[in-house]
Amino acid sequence: MTSDFLKNPPLGKPWLLYGFLGVSLVLNLTLALRSPEAPVEAAPAPEAVAAAPVAAAPAVDLNTAIPPELVPPLPEPLGVSRRAGTQVFSAPVNSSLSATFSASPARSTAALSAVYARLFVWDVELRRDLHKGDMVQVLFEDTEGVEPLVLAARLTLLPGQGGERVIDAFRYQAQGDRFPSYWTSQGTELPRRLIDGPLADYEQISSLLKDRPTHEGMDFKTPIGSDVTAPRAGVVTRVNWNHAANGNCVEVKFGDGVLAKFLHLNEDLVKEGQRVTAGQLLGRTGNTGRSTGPHLHYQLERGSSVVDPIEYHGTLRRTLPPELMPEFTRHVTELTAQLDTSVALAGI
Ligand SMILES: [Zn+2]
Repeated sequence: MTSDFLKNPPLGKPWLLYGFLGVSLVLNLTLALRSPEAPVEAAPAPEAVAAAPVAAAPAVDLNTAIPPELVPPLPEPLGVSRRAGTQVFSAPVNSSLSATFSASPARSTAALSAVYARLFVWDVELRRDLHKGDMVQVLFEDTEGVEPLVLAARLTLLPGQGGERVIDAFRYQAQGDRFPSYWTSQGTELPRRLIDGPLADYEQISSLLKDRPTHEGMDFKTPIGSDVTAPRAGVVTRVNWNHAANGNCVEVKFGDGVLAKFLHLNEDLVKEGQRVTAGQLLGRTGNTGRSTGPHLHYQLERGSSVVDPIEYHGTLRRTLPPELMPEFTRHVTELTAQLDTSVALAGI
């Protein structure tokens, strides 16, 4: 609860928050890589050995595994291309994601690394599953003063434990949604959503509990004025405590004894001692207290322990309705062509 200062250092521009997240991710995502001298295919796991014949197949389709012999010995990018308004970066994974992205043409490579990582944390335990020679690809727009905007991204994991995996992410705003989100080519949303969370919609979950040991909640990036509702019935136990750090804030004790905190609000709409029902409006999101951009900090505690909202609520994954798939598929085809530009350059 007192860590919000650490979570939100009093820096100026929004992308600096991502820079900060990037630094955090550097610490968190430093990879347990195989030693540089060891050949990539020398993974000790039996599964990796079993997968070796598949890896030796001559396919050069970057949608499948990258044969180890095609992975450059040095962590140099395969290709960087510039298009009008967008840029593509493609490279094999180096010692860490941030080291990999340090070769990218982004204004803030740490910010691009953090934004990219945010897309894949739902499917990949990056600290455990990412290895040297895995492949990152990203199509992004880079505007001064704001965080990089990723239009499409792909992560290709070399065959190994669990086999080869390709995960792609396409930015797309579904009809009826307030914000664009990221979807696989099959139309499944990549970021998971809390079941009965405090916000009906938001731009992005910008920080998970597990991201940083000093951060005790989950952050939802969302414009000022978004409705914050009580996920469960309970009693309002505190309002606007530690205002300098938390800004306008509300604390609710749910019926099961779990304490929920909602920080950095623009306005609170409940009073201490008030009973609230599940779904009742508690306040509206803001950027008050020590916060570098409009967002909701949502924190759960049971006794002296912090509770992960993901475990407490459970999550769901949306899929696009069939009637949107033709348009979405065209969109994916366009973005994929751009995403693969750097691969084409690398082949020259
Ligand atoms: Zn937070």
